[in-house]
Amino acid sequence: MSDRPTPAPVRAQALLRDAARRLNAAGIDTARLDAEVLLAHVLGTERLALLLDTERPVPGDRAAAFDACVARRAARVPVAQIVGRREFWGLDFVVGPDVLTPRPDSETVVAAALDRVPGGRARRVCDLGTGSGCLLLALLSEWPDALGLGIDRSGAALAVARANAATLGLSGRVSWVEADWFPPAEAAAARFDVIVSNPPYIPSAEIAGLAAEVRDHEPRGALDGGADGLDAYRRLAALVPDRLAPGGVCVLEVGAGQAAAVEALFRAAGLMPAGIEPDLAGVARAVAM
Ligand code: GLN
Repeated sequence: MSDRPTPAPVRAQALLRDAARRLNAAGIDTARLDAEVLLAHVLGTERLALLLDTERPVPGDRAAAFDACVARRAARVPVAQIVGRREFWGLDFVVGPDVLTPRPDSETVVAAALDRVPGGRARRVCDLGTGSGCLLLALLSEWPDALGLGIDRSGAALAVARANAATLGLSGRVSWVEADWFPPAEAAAARFDVIVSNPPYIPSAEIAGLAAEVRDHEPRGALDGGADGLDAYRRLAALVPDRLAPGGVCVLEVGAGQAAAVEALFRAAGLMPAGIEPDLAGVARAVAM
């Protein structure tokens, strides 16, 4: 028999207070919020339900699991990777270190594509560098007749995208190809009504200055856009015009200050600009052609 006493359950409130203090000391400015999200996660409940009952006792094994989560967060692992999920376009996505975590900014790309396809007439939709699949799956969820192709050079990312398609009930309308942008074998065949992409666009020299959560925990290949951040757009400008169906629309996410340069690259490749959309912070975030 163990002579170790069973630890008395601790109240949620006390755990949250200690965790917030610890995260705050680690320099995390959303310390209390993160603590709440992580405790709700280990308790298998919603954050708001937890907040309505902070006097609840937390069993010892859950308190230990929470402690492990808080230690990871203090080491700057992003909350989304600790809980393994992130909401995007009202849908629940599995995330992890193999994919860029979907950001609210990228919803601008989804909205811009929806706006430019009146009556939801898109049939064939392609997402280049699909990652978690968030752009493509959000669009397929809005266009019940559309078929999607997600392309990514990372097989590990495609495994995440596949899992997301399955969870969202969209597997039957989407296929995935592991390739560096468009695979040459499909050069002649496929034409798309809509092409979207959130390519890597951070200038290489700026990667070191990113938040540790992004720099150390998100895939470099989803972030690093080369010396001026525009390498991926040069590749896309060379590929996309031949893959758009007549009247097709291309919508790309861009980094702050890149919209005009990206428009110019595509104009030179023969695609006329069709508008720039700001994100919630007012930054020009999506470029449509
Ligand atoms: N928006 C991301 C960030 O700032 C970058 C995404 C990208 O390069 N496509 O962390």
